[in-house]
Amino acid sequence: MSEEISEIKTCYKHPNRETLICCNQCGRPICMDCAVSTPTGYRCKECVKEQQKKFNTAVSRDYVLSAIVAFLIGALGSFVLYFFNFYSMLTAIILGLLLGNLIAKAVRAVTQKRRAADLNKLTAIAAGIGGAVPILRYILGLFRMIFIGNYAGLMGYTLSVGWGILYIALLCTTILTNMRGFAIRRR
Ligand SMILES: [Zn+2]
Ligand SMILES: [Zn+2]
Repeated sequence: MSEEISEIKTCYKHPNRETLICCNQCGRPICMDCAVSTPTGYRCKECVKEQQKKFNTAVSRDYVLSAIVAFLIGALGSFVLYFFNFYSMLTAIILGLLLGNLIAKAVRAVTQKRRAADLNKLTAIAAGIGGAVPILRYILGLFRMIFIGNYAGLMGYTLSVGWGILYIALLCTTILTNMRGFAIRRR
């Protein structure tokens, strides 16, 4: 180690960039593009990836079961919304929040608390698709109203489809928030 230049560090990936930051895991110097901000400080991308691998404990069965559970409960909510003619802003909000939490709980149970970032996304997507299936009839109705030029009917269908979309949006965000919160608590 020479005395005068040992202070100037350059990014291990970009040797032409000087930096003052080091990865707090492996100690290598990293530039701002390579640094990932974590709750414990800056880390290089490789160390973050390594950490993520340890975090992902879900097995393939978890993905299948989570998707089925999310799809069924998501569809159930949409059926309640439409089958009983309950569609309104209020019921869409209540069902979205309620069933979103229920799905997160159910997934936690079937996966025995194993987790993975993409499992959260898959669960939200499956719930969204489940929720969308019962709405399809109304979307078709909407197009029929356009076709026959019944604008009063079109208005009604647009509203009911709108509440269905609100339900799905709330359902998905509740699942993602709930499952991410679980991951943070467990760390
Ligand atoms: Zn590192
Ligand atoms: Zn760099």
